[in-house]
Amino acid sequence: MKQELYRSIPKIDDLLIHKDIEALINSTSRTLVLNASRDILEVIRNEISQLTGDTYDISIETIIKKIHHSVNQKNAFKLRRVINGTGVVLHTNLGRSCLSDDIKAQLLDVSMHFSTLEFDTSNGKRGSRYSHVEELLCELTGAEAAMVVNNNAAAVMLVLSTMALDKEVIVSRGQLVEIGGSFRIPEVMKLSGANLVEVGATNKTHLRDYEQAITEETALLLKVHTSNFKVLGFTQEVSSKDLCILAHEKNLPVYDDLGSGMLIDLSKYGLMKEPTVGECIADGIDIVSFSGDKMLGGPQAGIIVGKKEYIERMKKNQLTRALRVDKMTLTALEGTLRYYRDELDALKHIPTLKMLTKSYLDISEEASLFASKLGITEKITHRLEDDYSEVGGGSMPLEKLLSKVIVFTHSSIKAQDIITYLRDFKIPVIGRIKEEEVILDFRTLSLDEHDVVVEALKALEQL
Ligand SMILES: *Cc1c(COP(=O)(O)O)cnc(C)c1O
Repeated sequence: MKQELYRSIPKIDDLLIHKDIEALINSTSRTLVLNASRDILEVIRNEISQLTGDTYDISIETIIKKIHHSVNQKNAFKLRRVINGTGVVLHTNLGRSCLSDDIKAQLLDVSMHFSTLEFDTSNGKRGSRYSHVEELLCELTGAEAAMVVNNNAAAVMLVLSTMALDKEVIVSRGQLVEIGGSFRIPEVMKLSGANLVEVGATNKTHLRDYEQAITEETALLLKVHTSNFKVLGFTQEVSSKDLCILAHEKNLPVYDDLGSGMLIDLSKYGLMKEPTVGECIADGIDIVSFSGDKMLGGPQAGIIVGKKEYIERMKKNQLTRALRVDKMTLTALEGTLRYYRDELDALKHIPTLKMLTKSYLDISEEASLFASKLGITEKITHRLEDDYSEVGGGSMPLEKLLSKVIVFTHSSIKAQDIITYLRDFKIPVIGRIKEEEVILDFRTLSLDEHDVVVEALKALEQL
């Protein structure tokens, strides 16, 4: 019986001239269909060899259906949109910040056409890639100069390699952080060619610790924002102001790796107080670096602002060429930064800030609207409940943002399988599980995503 099945597997050449497969080739590509067909025939051979029962469907229609399915899967975009129902605003695995809809037109226009990337239209000469955002960054932070690289990890590399190659950098033990994706400050420093000098204890570092560590070899004092953890209790850190006074007395610069980096003080809107980039500059910090796509809410980028003499040296470093950003990043960054000229504009237009400052009342209203759209369900049991969202992205780890979530179960499908089902929906919906129930958080769901999520839940109801 198996031999008979093997014999009835069609030849690849015969498959390729079948009219349905020809149509598929015409609408996609020959290579794609050929590879998918080979894969499917291989799967069929394996399935026959493992066969224990006595029926196996080897009709040409079934095989073609399988090839279609495989081609569709291979042909789909791998990097695509998802719906974030996790309540984690800066979800690094889901792409961190979402850009504002209002910069879409500019982003497309610049990406699809030639642009002023390194061209100065006022004199027809070569321009600087950084000029488009440098002025804005200076205006918004009070710094003398600015530049942008691929991400903040690259910024840290560039600053250290420019300022402290084969020299010593003094940093507090309490700030030797590991950030997600095994990015460790000590390792990065090693790679950049700077020598680390650790001072103080994990919980306490005093000004005299820095002072005693300064030698002829010292090139830089470094502060690192302990983004994703907090040392609580019996702790002490040296203030930026005091550190700057000490460093400048000794003719040394201070660099602050701020991590998230904010241009507005969100403590006015109920979040915890974090130093803004402008405050760091005002305290006397010589160089500050931060991410473009954390709480700033822009594209992935590493932004460096500070004293002109240092930024100029960084621009001339050969590493800069390897770390440079492209026009899409710069357009998205310029588009995002422009909103910061007016704080309320920024809060209104930048999705990350909008989600972080969304009021509990607004979230609750949206949740009720969603529940009414979903209507009465039989197999799905659901309720609205208070829960907490997170800032995410290694920022403000202790901050708990009061939010409203939908909690649901299905009469015959386990929570883990619901999560899988939602993840396979035409736009994947990403939720989380708490005590065997599925949760979607309305802080990170936008209103225009409600319909798709309702559709997903209604489809689930039919299972
Ligand atoms: C997040 C973070 C980085 C890395 O920034 P990326 O933009 O993700 O490369 C570096 N330093 C600190 C303190 C951070 O929080």
